[in-house]
Amino acid sequence: RRHEITVTMVFLVNSHQGNNVPAPFTSFDATGLPSELLREVRQAGFSSPTPIQAQSWPIALQNLDIVAVAKTGSGKTLGYLIPGFFHLKRRRNNPQMGPTVLVLSPTRELATQIQDEAVKFGKSSQISCTCLYGGAPKGPQLSQLSRGADIVVATPGRLNDILEMKKVSLHQVSYLVLDEADRMLDMGFEPQIRKIVKEVPTKRQTLMYTATWPKEVRKIAADLLVNPVQVNIGNVD
Ligand code: ADP
Ligand code: MG
Repeated sequence: RRHEITVTMVFLVNSHQGNNVPAPFTSFDATGLPSELLREVRQAGFSSPTPIQAQSWPIALQNLDIVAVAKTGSGKTLGYLIPGFFHLKRRRNNPQMGPTVLVLSPTRELATQIQDEAVKFGKSSQISCTCLYGGAPKGPQLSQLSRGADIVVATPGRLNDILEMKKVSLHQVSYLVLDEADRMLDMGFEPQIRKIVKEVPTKRQTLMYTATWPKEVRKIAADLLVNPVQVNIGNVD
């Protein structure tokens, strides 16, 4: 499942609110990734960043909020995980007190895929990650959580349940990702997302990824992000 760059792909990066949009990273070497992680990425068979990664990494590394509109299979997961690893390097909290990085994802399947990537590429930086999703008993997830995690990947329904049980604190989260935002809204998760985000400090970096850019997604982006830089890869309606 390699990423394919088609020749018809268009890059549109909008400079926004006076932010100078940095130039894309055209190679992994430009990223300043730790050498162990670079080795990991090369071992995975990746020769260069995908367009969404090339565009969004330098922006995310400047701590700016991002809305990225890009279709499935464009490499969005590492698009937000790698800057998340940099973020953790700079401001890692005690994972026992709650995660520093929170990723919301619509389904159990996608959430576990994200966790797998976070574990695979975060291992060399001693980054821990746990996953919370519905359709499975809470017990094992809660005991995992109680061991502490730098990154929590969660579906909104299950995370909201666990928040209501007061079994997790989001007060240390400073890097928030809404992955597949359009799909989460289609699945009716908007109330849970809003409740969850209320628990996250406003002083944070927020990244939103979506395959489509309809009115509902624009609305939640306007509510939850601050002066985001928008990165569009491909044709966006
Ligand atoms: P999306 O979230 O946009 O649907 P994913 O993050 O799941 O896409 O990535 C799609 C596939 O591309 C995955 O198998 C992933 O491992 C792979 N991939 C990610 N980054 C690169 C890269 N720089 N080069 C080649 N393949 C990549
Ligand atoms: Mg994805």
